[in-house]
Amino acid sequence: MDFAPPLNVDILANALRARFGQRLRRDEPLAAHTTLRVGGPADLWLTVTTLDELIEAVTLAWQHHVPVFLLGGGANMLVSDRGVRGLVLQNRCQRVEFDEGDPPHVLVESGVILPSLAHRLARRGLSGLEWAVGVPGTVGGAVVNNAGAYGSSIADCLARAELLTPAEHPQGNGRREWRSVNWFEYEYRSSRLKRTGGRGPSAEHPKEVVLQAELVLSRKSPAEIENQMAAYSKRRKATQPPGASIGSMFKNPPGDYAGRLIEAAGLKGTQIGGAQISPVHANFFVNLGDAKAADFVALIELARQTVKARFDVELELEIEKIGDWEI
Ligand SMILES: Cc1cc2nc3c(=O)[nH]c(=O)nc-3n(C[C@H](O)[C@H](O)[C@H](O)COP(=O)(O)OP(=O)(O)OC[C@H]3O[C@@H](n4cnc5c(N)ncnc54)[C@H](O)[C@@H]3O)c2cc1C
Repeated sequence: MDFAPPLNVDILANALRARFGQRLRRDEPLAAHTTLRVGGPADLWLTVTTLDELIEAVTLAWQHHVPVFLLGGGANMLVSDRGVRGLVLQNRCQRVEFDEGDPPHVLVESGVILPSLAHRLARRGLSGLEWAVGVPGTVGGAVVNNAGAYGSSIADCLARAELLTPAEHPQGNGRREWRSVNWFEYEYRSSRLKRTGGRGPSAEHPKEVVLQAELVLSRKSPAEIENQMAAYSKRRKATQPPGASIGSMFKNPPGDYAGRLIEAAGLKGTQIGGAQISPVHANFFVNLGDAKAADFVALIELARQTVKARFDVELELEIEKIGDWEI
């Protein structure tokens, strides 16, 4: 079977190399950039560190009709063994600006690492992200996924976010637009952006890019915030497995827990290839070291079919399957 990338990728590669030089890489293995440690190569790979770079790279990809995919921490995605066609941008835009008004605000670029931000806010006595202490990934990923824990989520403190929206004309530039929190139509671990995203990048349906976010916070003493965060971290350590995973594999169905159902179906500890349903928490699937994405797909199907057969519950993926899955 021929896996050759389409010609536009080569043309885009030339345009990106003219702007970013040797920082542009080809055939970068994505296993190195995802928390699950699986995933084949990205045709093109670039790390961006400023919003100008991010906008330029995305705009070039859109103009060349090449799919472009934003990678934050890679903490919520199962990347195909065949990798991702097109351009993958690793977002490391990390400016943070504090506005100590009343209420206090913070303006954060989308590549800021969420748990690091939670610690920075705690040191300043700014409350609102305590739940994020054990949630890996970036602000951009959190805005798309409505990341959250312990009854809170990013939707609770997001005032607005700035997006880069694809131009109507293919040769045009994208538009920078601020959208208030209501625009995102947040639901449990989901948003308007996640729902329209489909299964990763596509040249025909380019996705909006989150550039930055404004969070509204409140004031508490640093000690109180840090104590709360320490309690959350302790709870995580006691209930979640260490090692390579992508957090919860499935959303909790209404009124129940995906982990409880998978465990009750007798699947805790089940292994396919190098992938295992964790013996610690059945909604965490872990990479024992040499897993392939295909091993996780097989485990996902096994869990779905067994839970459906035993309890008549359809488990819905919380994570995203990304890349080229055609066999
Ligand atoms: C050990 C562990 C524990 C976890 N616990 C939790 C938890 O308690 N609660 C929870 O909610 N999640 C949890 N997760 C999942 C993960 O942390 C969140 O989903 C997180 O928000 C993912 O962020 P990310 O930057 O890694 O996103 P990625 O996985 O890199 O991307 C996710 C999606 O967002 C898109 N995206 C990323 N950045 C942008 C951007 N700037 N613009 C547009 N699209 C973008 C990507 O293209 C992709 O479609 C856990 C994961 C792990 C590994």
